[in-house]
Amino acid sequence: MNDCIFCKIINGEIPSATIYEDSEFKIILDRFPANPGHVLILPKTHAENIFELNEATGAKLFALAIKTANLLNEHLAPHGLNVLQNNGAAAGQTVNHFHMHLIPRYTNDDISIKWNTLQLTDADIEDIRSKLI
Ligand code: 5GP
Ligand code: ZN
Repeated sequence: MNDCIFCKIINGEIPSATIYEDSEFKIILDRFPANPGHVLILPKTHAENIFELNEATGAKLFALAIKTANLLNEHLAPHGLNVLQNNGAAAGQTVNHFHMHLIPRYTNDDISIKWNTLQLTDADIEDIRSKLI
């Protein structure tokens, strides 16, 4: 992908603060982090989003996410940690190369991940369930 900023980071055309790399993945510090230690796990093969991601790659990526979460926990001792992964502009994706965010969290930090809850009836829930089976 000629224009993809993360492909350029992966092939070294654009520098990045890399904390881990193997043949399939690169893990970098987010350049504009929500908190110190905010990292991005990048699969090296370009896939735009979760809908394009190969399942085997996704399985390996999640195993790597668990290792990385433990690494952040051991070295930065956050109070919590968010795993975040955006797909499509409507979901907040700004770089169209699949990536997973790991964000160390601290009590009273300046991050808010929240939504207003809907008041649905049991019939509404059943309607949605019927569309998904
Ligand atoms: P998204 O909103 O697509 O889920 O997340 C994209 C992330 O990439 C953002 O958190 C943003 O700060 C980060 N980012 C954008 N450009 C660069 C860059 O050039 N280098 C690094 N390390 N991170 C970047
Ligand atoms: Zn890419």
